[in-house]
Amino acid sequence: MTNTDTADAAATATQIAALAQAGSQLVRVTVNNDDAAAAVPEIAVRLQDLGVRVPLVGDFHYNGHLLLTRHPDCARVLAKYRINPGNVGSKHRNENFRAIVDVALANDKPVRIGVNWGSLDQDLLTSLMETNAALPMPREARDVYIEAMIESAIRSAALAEECGLRHDRILISAKVSVVADLVETYRRLAARCDFPLHLGLTEAGIGTKGVIASTAGLSILLAEGIGDTIRVSLTPRPQGDRTEEVQVAQQILQSLGLRHFTPQVTACPGCGRTTSTFFQQLAQDVQQHLRERMTEWRGRRPGVEELRVAVMGCVVNGPGESKHAHIGISLPGTFEEPKAPVYVNGRLQTTLRGDRLVDEFFEILDDYVASHYPVTDSPPVTPR
Ligand code: SF4
Repeated sequence: MTNTDTADAAATATQIAALAQAGSQLVRVTVNNDDAAAAVPEIAVRLQDLGVRVPLVGDFHYNGHLLLTRHPDCARVLAKYRINPGNVGSKHRNENFRAIVDVALANDKPVRIGVNWGSLDQDLLTSLMETNAALPMPREARDVYIEAMIESAIRSAALAEECGLRHDRILISAKVSVVADLVETYRRLAARCDFPLHLGLTEAGIGTKGVIASTAGLSILLAEGIGDTIRVSLTPRPQGDRTEEVQVAQQILQSLGLRHFTPQVTACPGCGRTTSTFFQQLAQDVQQHLRERMTEWRGRRPGVEELRVAVMGCVVNGPGESKHAHIGISLPGTFEEPKAPVYVNGRLQTTLRGDRLVDEFFEILDDYVASHYPVTDSPPVTPR
């Protein structure tokens, strides 16, 4: 999701292009006022001029019914509308909701019912809390909260269908910021409905905390087959890179073996058997080399995103791990002979020594890619 002022079409288009370039397959933009809604068509034109083809999702809160009605071009170019049932209105809630669905119907767009516990429908929550309090054995408040999240999503989806939206044009999300609650919410949601589910740990946080919490929550659900689209909501550092959340999302999917986006480098953590930083540097350089080359390889060399490279620190696990990778190098640990065997497709191909070791390893890597992932339009070649 972008974090630019959507009304600034140039800045927003640039960020969307960066997110798409990083691999985002769907980009959500805030549409919070008339200026933002008016800018959306221009953003779409700018993206077209840049050659960027990525669906845009409009994020609406409070006034989506007004903006989508007042800005038909915005409604037309967006690929999907996100409605938050917690803030679509209270007095005219159903009316406003219906107005958005009517625009979706007129433009043949899907709608995501995006519940968030930070903006949960308070009337519904209060009602469920009161019902619970009247029970002989009331459930824990957390349990009722989760139920309210799910009820809000399910009831809103039902309302959308009543308004004429097809069942297969509705998606649901129910985001919370605590991992255990996220898992519980989505497990229950998946058991209650067959709508596609958009996953995300909302307000995951900054840095390592945000990455790990998102990974923990999403991985459990994805491993259980729950979830159709994902978003990682990281708080960027000031002037930080917005594409970090795309990289994390891709890495989650790739680590689980669900999708492949970029070659993976397996590297050992190092220990007392390797006291130099040489192999750490090589692991980093290999990662960097692959990332840079991928800008050229992506789409042109099908299957290269499944490449696995191992960079290992010593003889203990080095040869074994290297044999499991497509290409692996086992560097000498402390007191080992200064040579580095290189394995290709599980077999010892050569042993590198001396100052050109790094360059020669990169040559082997590039030769492997050239020979195993030729530039072609035919289906991907998967080695081994
Ligand atoms: S492969 Fe060698 S250097 Fe790396 S962690 Fe294992 S024992 Fe230590």
